[in-house]
Parts: sequence; structure tokens; C-alpha cells
Amino acid sequence: MKSARILPSLLVAASLFAGVAFAGDAKPANAESKEAKCCMKAAKDGKTCDHSCCTEAAAAGKNCEKCGGSGTIAKK
Ligand SMILES: [Zn+2]
Ligand SMILES: [Zn+2]
Repeated sequence: MKSARILPSLLVAASLFAGVAFAGDAKPANAESKEAKCCMKAAKDGKTCDHSCCTEAAAAGKNCEKCGGSGTIAKK
């Protein structure tokens, strides 16, 4: 059960993000946008990364921090 393991760390990440979101509410998130290597690789092949951590991060509009990404996904 992968998701059962991921959940606690997601909760921690979510609470961290909530703190950041409240602190910087007036400004857009301007953390450096960096795509995770695995996602870059997948994108080069015209695919999306199939890591569950990356998929969840992407659904939230973020790059996967677990895999080395940071910030929000740059819109094209
Ligand atoms: Zn990925
Ligand atoms: Zn990931």
C-alpha cells in the first residue's frame, strides 16, 4: 500500500504549504520553478511522469519536491 505510506508526509507537506500560503497570501508564489528530473525526462518523451508523488504534485499545480522539483508548474 504505497498511498498509506505517502499520506503522513503529504499531511506534513500540506501543513507546511498552508503556513507558507497564509504568510504570503498577498503575493503569488514566486519560489523558483524547477521541474523534477523524472518529470523533465518524461516530458521530453512527450509523456507525463507516472510517479504517484509527481502526479499528485502536478494536480496541485506544483513540481514534485520529493523528486527534486520546486515551486509551481510554469504555464505554457
Ligand atoms: Zn516525476
Ligand atoms: Zn515525484
